[in-house]
This record gives sequence, C-alpha cells and structure tokens, in this order.
Amino acid sequence: MSTRTYDVRTFGCQMNVHDSERLAGLLEDAGYRKATADATPDVVVFNTCAVRENADNRLYGNLGHLLPVKKSHPGMQIAVGGCLAQKDGATIVERAPWVDVVFGTHNMGALPVLLERARIEDESQVELLEALEVFPSTLPTRRESPYRAWVSISVGCNNTCTFCIVPSLRGKERDRRPGEILREVEMLVADGVLEVTLLGQNVNSYGVEFGDTRAFGKLLRACGEIDGLERVRFTSPHPRDFTDDVIEAMAETPNVMPSLHMPLQSGSDRVLKAMRRSYRAGKYLGIIDRVRAAIPDAAITTDVIVGFPGETDDDFAQTLGVVQAARFAGAFTFQYSKRPGTPAADMVGEVSADVVAERYQRLAAVVEDVAWTENKTQLGRTVEVLVSEGEGRKDGATHRISGRARDNRLVHLVPCDARPGDVVTASVTYAAPHHLVADEVVAVRPTGGGDAWQARHETPLPRGVPLGMPALRPA
Ligand code: SF4
Repeated sequence: MSTRTYDVRTFGCQMNVHDSERLAGLLEDAGYRKATADATPDVVVFNTCAVRENADNRLYGNLGHLLPVKKSHPGMQIAVGGCLAQKDGATIVERAPWVDVVFGTHNMGALPVLLERARIEDESQVELLEALEVFPSTLPTRRESPYRAWVSISVGCNNTCTFCIVPSLRGKERDRRPGEILREVEMLVADGVLEVTLLGQNVNSYGVEFGDTRAFGKLLRACGEIDGLERVRFTSPHPRDFTDDVIEAMAETPNVMPSLHMPLQSGSDRVLKAMRRSYRAGKYLGIIDRVRAAIPDAAITTDVIVGFPGETDDDFAQTLGVVQAARFAGAFTFQYSKRPGTPAADMVGEVSADVVAERYQRLAAVVEDVAWTENKTQLGRTVEVLVSEGEGRKDGATHRISGRARDNRLVHLVPCDARPGDVVTASVTYAAPHHLVADEVVAVRPTGGGDAWQARHETPLPRGVPLGMPALRPA
C-alpha cells in the first residue's frame, strides 16, 4: 500500500495549534505523510475548539462538505479530536456517521491506533478518557516552524471562570517538571529554534502541582541560561497568580521578551466577580504599573469580553476606563456568547445583541485609538525583527516581509536579504493601529533559525535574492 497522507485542520487557541503539531508528529511517526495542498488527503483530522459559539455548526458544516469527497475517495478516513470531541463524544458519530474516529483531549496519542482499528473493523471508533494519562509533550511532534516553537509547561486549569469550558474539558492543572521542559527547549535550540513560547492555561500557577509557587519565575530565569535561545515568551498569564518574582525574572532575564499578554476580560469589579475572576481592576492595573516600572518598553496586550450577563452601561464604562489607563498596545475583543456547559450559560441578565454589538464597536474604537497612540511612540526607534512566514503583506507591487519585534509588535519591512528565521534590525518609519512599518533596514543577521528554515525547503533559495513570503495576506 502506498504511504497514506494526512491533513490536520485546527480550530481554536495556541494550545490546539500545538496539539495539532503533535497529531501531525504522531501520524508521521506511524508512517503517514503530510498531504500536498492540491491533493485529497487519505486522513483528515479536525482538531476542534468548544470555546466559541457555533463551534459545533462549524464542525458539522465542515464534515458535511467532506462527505461527497469521502464517497469519491475510497479509503479516506475522518477523525475528530480536541475540546468539542471531548465534550460531545459519540454524538458526533450519531450526527455524522461518516466520521471514523472521535478522540478526546486526554488521549491524542491513540489517534493512529484508532484509525487502524476503524479501518480493520470497518466501524467508527469513539474513545475518550476522563483524565490525562501521559503528558502530551512526550508525543512525537511535527513543528510548523523551524525557528519558533511552542513548549507546554502545563495542561488543564484549576480556575473556574464562569464563561470558560476549558476546566471541564482539559481537566485539572498538570505541571510538567522543569528539567523536562528545559531539556525540550535545549533540543529545540540545537535544531535552530530561536524563540520559544511557554504554554499553559495559567502559566502563573505553574508549580502548584509540585508545591513550588515560585516555579514560573525560576523557569524563566533557567531559560535565560540556555545558550542560543534568543527569545522567550509565555501565554497565558492570570492576574490572580501574577507575583512580583515573575516581574523581576522578566526584567532580569535578557532573553525574556518585553511583552505581556494578560487577559483583563472586564474592567468592572462586579462583572469580574460574576465571571469568577478573582482579581479586581485595581490589582490588574497594579501589575501593569509594576511591569512598566521594571520593563519600561514592555508592550502589553489583553483579551476583553463585552456583554457578559448582567453587564450594565456603568460596568462597560469601567472597562473602557481600564483599557485607557492600561495603555494596551492591542487587544482581542470578544462579544459574549453563551457556551453550553459553562455556569454563565444559565445566568440571568442577558444583554441584548444590539447593546452588545454597540458596546463592542465602542470598545474596538477605544482599543484602536489607544493602540495607535502607543504604536506612534515607536516612530524612529530601532527594532529587532525576527522574520516569520505567514505575516507578510503586499503594498502595491512590494511584497513586504514581516515579523515580530522583541515586544511582539507586528513589523512590516521592505524586501531584503533575510529568510524567515533571520533577524533584521530596522528603524520604524510608520505606525498603524495594528502594525509598524520599518523601511530603514540597518542590518540583516542570518541565524541558525534561517538556516533551519532553508534546510526545510526542498529547493533552497540562493542567498542575496529578496524573498517574497510564501503566504501573503492582502494588504
Ligand atoms: S483561567 Fe479561566 S479562562 Fe483561563 S482556562 Fe482557566 S477557567 Fe478558562
């Protein structure tokens, strides 16, 4: 039999993006290879998310589109994993009997076996576990990027935010041992990775499982000792557990980047209480003040939910006030929508869709205004950009290359002799609300990350040729 091909389609957060790298690694370890963009894969895996409203409509829409494809492609298999699979289990094969495998968030490693069993028994396989048996980082991984990598430090969450389905689907927090994390980071760096993002639902509570409340700050400092590791980021922090030792570790560890994405969710203490977010606006702003005092150039971004049940005009005005006071460099804003299975889904005080939409517009305008003001402070500054794939853009006839500054701002550059994974130093010439333009290139530094990117491409491009980005987004 010829080698079977696969395609993993991902919905949701960074955790899912990283899990999809593991699913790809598992399949490649089992002898599958990634399908080319123009070919029908033999196996399609949906790695689903249950956080957004209509997640199930989206999944069943996708499954419906695949039914005729499957009929005309004998032997094709479809697998559904991730949070929605953990939540809905066998319901998925009842609604879409052409699905071959359903697996959950705790047993990703079983995917190749389940596909095989479904093929041999010619019957759909549904397998979910209640709790994690093996920390998923022990699974083989096919990383999307050769110069940037996600590294899991924990999975699950001990909080009970009332809008969030994660604790019931991902379980209690499980922490990986620091030595294991650092070994993985060292191996990545040896392979050309320059930047790692430490990943957990609540990185600030890292260590709770093995009884060390200072473990996260220590982990950041230990990452600072790794030769060749240029950039360390993390997501997501939780204001409740954000202690000053972490701020000190961020400030005193040169390769920990001056950026912080810390979810606010609401600026109203009353709403935060209803959300069961156990910090208050004052504490949140206090953390930001201390981060800015220790790291003056830090760019701070956030998540905000608008229209949580019971949110009044006054609550919303308080959120706008915190957004202004915090001087965010950017924010992901969400309109609250019921997520079945969460405590908030049964709360009274639903805010009408019109009001939510109107508040959302007002918030977006304030966020944009604040972010633009913050971005303008960068004009004329010299930034160091790690060039990346997938974020380039086209300005007229110019195919810009792009990447992230140390503070995680998106920066578009003129085409220059830099590969994805290389580092460009350039001067900022224009600031927009959501990105910077740095057209005065000062230096291009080839890196091991650029070499690793080049080695991955079958026909390496000769050095000295301006590189267009493989996936350009419209301007
Ligand atoms: S901290 Fe809250 S929002 Fe984040 S994963 Fe845990 S329960 Fe969900």
